[in-house]
Amino acid sequence: LKVTHQRAEIFREVAQTLSHPDAETVLEGVRRRVPSVSLDTVYRTLWLLADLDLIRTLSPLRERARFDANLEGHHHFVCVRCGFTRDFESEGLGTLPIPAAARKLGRVQALHVEARGLCRKCASQRKSTRTHRKEEEKR
Ligand SMILES: [Zn+2]
Ligand SMILES: [Zn+2]
Repeated sequence: LKVTHQRAEIFREVAQTLSHPDAETVLEGVRRRVPSVSLDTVYRTLWLLADLDLIRTLSPLRERARFDANLEGHHHFVCVRCGFTRDFESEGLGTLPIPAAARKLGRVQALHVEARGLCRKCASQRKSTRTHRKEEEKR
């Protein structure tokens, strides 16, 4: 792999944040240092880095793939409203046996748990909005 300046900056952008950014967010960050970088280059580089196992992709959220430079075994908290995503670790989850049902489908390399819900910010916004609460009761 040819390590161009742009590629290095794109990797750095993913590696330096805990936010699991999508391509558009990576572009915004990289543009501050490399104004000439294009979204196309960012996309191609992110998927190239993913192919090389240098970063990972998370399951698509709002149809936008997100990227992760943390290659250690870990889990994710994902806010279903705003997309806030953070790593978390858990000894208990880390020692979970691979379910036989998953092994039937193929060779399992890692077990990843996604905790979904509302982040603190979204949860507090929801509490403070009465109309939201009424909507919630109807469901
Ligand atoms: Zn949120
Ligand atoms: Zn992660």
